[in-house]
Amino acid sequence: MAGEPQDDCLFCKIVAGEVPATVVRASETTLAFRDINPQAPTHVLVIPKAHHADAAALAAEAPQLAADVLREAGEVARQEGVEEGGYRIVFNTGAGAGQTVFHAHAHVLGGRGLTWPPG
Ligand code: 5GP
Ligand code: ZN
Repeated sequence: MAGEPQDDCLFCKIVAGEVPATVVRASETTLAFRDINPQAPTHVLVIPKAHHADAAALAAEAPQLAADVLREAGEVARQEGVEEGGYRIVFNTGAGAGQTVFHAHAHVLGGRGLTWPPG
C-alpha cells in the first residue's frame, strides 16, 4: 500500500537503518544522504521516509510530503553551499528516464557547471 515500507526497496532499507548511508540531513518525514555514485561535487538524494514509487505518485498520494521533499532539497543546497552557484533538483520518473530505484527521490546536484538541456 502507498506509504507503507516495502521489503524489497533499497531506500526503505536505508530509512530503516538496514543499509548504511551517509546522511547529511533529516526531518521528521524526510532523509537526505549522499549518492553512492556522485555525478557532481554535491550529489545528495532527498527521499520521503514513507514509500511512494515516484515523484508523481508522491505528489498524488501525499502532497504535503512532496512539499517536504522540495523544501529539504532547498535546505540541502543551502547547507552544501551550492545555492549561490545554482543547482539542479531532478526526479527521474520511469525506467525510460533513468529511474532505477522506485522509491521517490530528488537528486540535488551542484558544485559544477550544469548544462541545459541535460541529454
Ligand atoms: P535513479 O536512477 O533511480 O534516479 O537514482 C537512484 C540513485 O541511487 C542513483 O544515482 C544511484 O547512484 C543511487 N544509489 C543506488 N544504490 C545506492 C546505495 O546503496 N546507496 C546510496 N547512497 N545511493 C545509491
Ligand atoms: Zn521504499
